[in-house]
Amino acid sequence: MTRYYSTNRSVPEVDLAEALLTGQAGDRGLFLPRTLPRMSRELLARARALSYPELAAAVLEPYAVGTFTRAALDEICADAYDYPVPLERVDGPRHVMRLDQGPTASFKDFAARFMGRALGRLTRERGRELLILTATSGDTGSAIAHAFLGVPGIRAVVLFPVHEVSDRQRRQMTTLGGNIATLALDSKFDDCQALVKQAFADPDLAGLNLTSANSINIGRLLPQSVYYIHAAARLADVAGGEKVVFSVPSGNFGDLMGGLLALRTGLPVERFIVATNANDEVPRFLETGRYEKIVPSRKCISNAMNVGHPSNLARVVDLYGGHMDELGRISEPPDLGALRRDLFGVSVGDEETRATIVEAHRRHGTLLEPHGAVGWAGLARFLERHPEHAETTAISLETAHPAKFPEEIQALIQVDPPLPPSLQGLEARSESYEPLETDYPAFKEYLLKHYR
Ligand SMILES: *Cc1c(COP(=O)(O)O)cnc(C)c1O
Repeated sequence: MTRYYSTNRSVPEVDLAEALLTGQAGDRGLFLPRTLPRMSRELLARARALSYPELAAAVLEPYAVGTFTRAALDEICADAYDYPVPLERVDGPRHVMRLDQGPTASFKDFAARFMGRALGRLTRERGRELLILTATSGDTGSAIAHAFLGVPGIRAVVLFPVHEVSDRQRRQMTTLGGNIATLALDSKFDDCQALVKQAFADPDLAGLNLTSANSINIGRLLPQSVYYIHAAARLADVAGGEKVVFSVPSGNFGDLMGGLLALRTGLPVERFIVATNANDEVPRFLETGRYEKIVPSRKCISNAMNVGHPSNLARVVDLYGGHMDELGRISEPPDLGALRRDLFGVSVGDEETRATIVEAHRRHGTLLEPHGAVGWAGLARFLERHPEHAETTAISLETAHPAKFPEEIQALIQVDPPLPPSLQGLEARSESYEPLETDYPAFKEYLLKHYR
């Protein structure tokens, strides 16, 4: 059985089912697999020929021993990953991987759809009901809401900062109804996340069977390692050890953690470019070795990355031999040299983000949205510093569909990005959401009133 430990190390190890069902560990740490599987050379050689769902099931199998059989994973993945994962060649060996073809047009669909199906299966097998709480800075909420909509035995409450999400992002979560409730807060993402965290720690709510679908849930990370393997295997001779560069637009660092798992399990990666917006606490940490959260987080057009203290950073620190607690205090420093060997930190402000959208379109005819543009700009900066990698295969992640940011893109390049089918008809659907004060007692009262 694959065991999962808490980064705070004061609770016993659990199996994947328990880690999925509880989200955060009882000591407020984050779960990580005790031993990382090793991908065989044979799997790396075969990866290019596998369909995405086949590859996903093969990659996830060793993480799920004792919880899901290979047959169950085959079924979950075939159902979850029924959309394409395009790799677009932009400029020489430099590519954009479009992770925006899922039902909510963001890369969060990869994790959310796996989790929805995995948790649905577990609740069915165990006859246990679940209440999912999630805070969103834009895209998690709709991905989670879609993934859990209509799953029997599961209800979900989504908290979002009403002034930090776009119209379309809001409509994607507020037009579903059913077992999905949405709460609008007149505050920042970090405040939404803090309320959710407090609810998990509150013994009075233990009877509600709360679980998290935020990127702290290990179920969000594992599936996010698959697309790195998919992309590298299609573009490079990974079985022969050819290394690639990835650029990862980052907020809570769940996406990056997926990449680091791929690296640790044997994917040859030269470097991960950690591209943040003006919330540059991690690039600074890489540079100086000192970690300082940004409070309040800075508001940028890549709004899903407006994070002043990434919830997955404790995992990154743990993976590199250090310890960071849930408040961001480092009691044991990670191996900074090793971190710098694997990660290249870049912070890209809004002006450079906008210029990148214009430039990519003008020079290459490539349509980027703000998050993907942060990644693409990060890759350019890496190559300026490391011209020796000009011929290395590089893959920049495009994490949302440009049609989610029509005003910004229209203003910059006078293009109206065509709506993918998943975003069509949103304006016509009726919305329902409740306002909530940024106040824990009010949130607790809401939960007890509706879900006890
Ligand atoms: C969530 C999100 C990100 C950041 O991903 P993390 O895993 O939080 O680092 C980037 N782009 C988009 C579009 C997102 O929705």
